[in-house]
Amino acid sequence: MSEKLEGNILVTGTNRGIGLELVKQLAESTGEEAHIYACCRAPEGTRAEALRDLTTQYPGKITLIKLDMSDEDSISAAVQAVSEQIGAGGLNLLINNAAINKPDIPAPLSATGKRDMMDVYETNVVGPFLIAKMLLPLLQRAAEINSPAKGDKMSCRRSAIINISTLVSSIEKCPETFDIAQMYPYRTSKTALNMLTRCQAEDFKRHNILVTAIHPGWVRTEMGGEQAPLTTHDSVHGMLYVMPFLSNKDCGILLDWQGNRIPW
Ligand code: NDP
Repeated sequence: MSEKLEGNILVTGTNRGIGLELVKQLAESTGEEAHIYACCRAPEGTRAEALRDLTTQYPGKITLIKLDMSDEDSISAAVQAVSEQIGAGGLNLLINNAAINKPDIPAPLSATGKRDMMDVYETNVVGPFLIAKMLLPLLQRAAEINSPAKGDKMSCRRSAIINISTLVSSIEKCPETFDIAQMYPYRTSKTALNMLTRCQAEDFKRHNILVTAIHPGWVRTEMGGEQAPLTTHDSVHGMLYVMPFLSNKDCGILLDWQGNRIPW
């Protein structure tokens, strides 16, 4: 079993936080054949400077793609741009990382309205649904080309979707997590993302495409806040250690960044 990811990898929400660190560590750890499609809303903007620096540091290894996950036309244009560049290998790994959390944490019920519910659902659920649907032919192509001679059929090196979820999506864990922050829109969106993961797992297993949800831990980012215990480095290091070991048994479940199963 290999301990590294390879191939063509697409990550969403890569200009900061966990997404930026994913691109950095993927660029560092993958071989010459690997290529990273780093998506963000404004690749030319001031908020993407660190991401642009990575493309200079790893010449030819990273393609920046403009992508707004709340806009169907933008998703369609991004998929088109990737399709034109990706070639015969197809897409080996899609990491749905981009997400929003509204209103500001602790996001109590009193401050939450319809607009928050709709916006968060659109970005965190509809976006990942549409991009996976549109990228399916490229994921299928990679799954067909990389058919293993024996052993488990599914893997992140062959063809996979990783949906970045969260511990607070867990219905079973809700009594333990609810008092920390209510976050109705965010929690319900990520629980829906878990169901999307489960549906995709059932649907795409016939194509040998692995689909797994991963909780990155509580991470020090704009979303996670200053008091979060984990650095982006440690969270991403953990997730990238876990991903290459995922196989058929991990399809359609929620794991944490250390590979421990979280109940739905
Ligand atoms: P950040 O808020 O730090 O970063 C979010 C990223 O998503 C940014 O790059 C942002 O881009 C992008 N994004 C937001 N909306 C869109 C959109 N419509 N289209 C494209 N990109 C968009 O979050 P984290 O890095 O902390 O979170 C990454 C993932 O991890 C998320 O899925 C989150 O739910 C999950 N997670 C995080 C935890 C934590 O403690 N940090 C805990 C559990 C889960 P822009 O700069 O343009 O806004």
